Amino acid sequence: KIIGAKDLDIKESNNDNNVFSEKLFKDIEGLNPKLQRSLLNNGYEKLTKVQEMSIPSLLSKTDAIVKSETGSGKTLAYMLPILANLMKTEPAINRKDKTLVLIICPVRELCLQILEICQKVGNACVNIVPGALFGGQDIKSEKEKIRKGLNIIVGTPGRILYHLDSTECFTLNNLRHVVFEECDRILDMGFKKELTNILEHKKFNIELAQKIFVSACLNNEIKELIGSVQRSKQPVQIGFEENCINNDFPDHLTHRYLICEENKKISVLFSLLKLLEQKKI
Ligand code: AMP
Repeated sequence: KIIGAKDLDIKESNNDNNVFSEKLFKDIEGLNPKLQRSLLNNGYEKLTKVQEMSIPSLLSKTDAIVKSETGSGKTLAYMLPILANLMKTEPAINRKDKTLVLIICPVRELCLQILEICQKVGNACVNIVPGALFGGQDIKSEKEKIRKGLNIIVGTPGRILYHLDSTECFTLNNLRHVVFEECDRILDMGFKKELTNILEHKKFNIELAQKIFVSACLNNEIKELIGSVQRSKQPVQIGFEENCINNDFPDHLTHRYLICEENKKISVLFSLLKLLEQKKI
């Protein structure tokens, strides 16, 4: 028998869902005025909390692990400092400078989302060329884009590795910034091997690059990944509460529980699964 929602006494924790801070982009030092204008033109006025915490240290090229969840504004949190730094280069960067930024993502949808945000605010620096490489896309046209020169690459691990192996002119040994996006998902999806192969590839060198890890949680697996990328100094933690047990869980994950009589536990469990069918449980 399925028990109705109103009879299931589900208790849940209250999360603080306000992602915005009080700071305005126009008051942030170190962002090129063209970037400031582009932000305003795209409707970005107030910083989110994760942006307020990240932008100053990322602008100074610190290696960092940034806690983030979908919708927190994590992309701009690292994209703005990266673009601001690239825009300081003299003479201005162009296609011939090859790839200076690599953003490794678990899935194509995220690649496209990041590319879109990059193109939006990147209006401020049309000379810097971004592009995406991911599975399912025509390889020939990707090779052509690579040959012409992409300064910022957003890609999935498998496809990046493919081009390192099979596209002669594709090298990633002059990188200034590397972002490991949604590290937790990259590992959950089983991309550890591809990632290791990229890190050990002879055409890949990030020794001098700023390394930014983005993750909703900071568990032992993520720490191990960071250790394999970053052999000497540890990245600063942004947004994680130190020694907090909840670091293993994203804030937007809601823990629910209910107490029921033992003889009803199967039907209660089944009813719960039916009730939350649309959600990830
Ligand atoms: P993200 O967490 O990076 O996936 O961003 C989620 C959405 O929030 C995207 O559509 C962004 O364009 C938007 N966004 C990010 N930062 C801001 C901001 N400071 N103000 C308004 N929207 C933002």
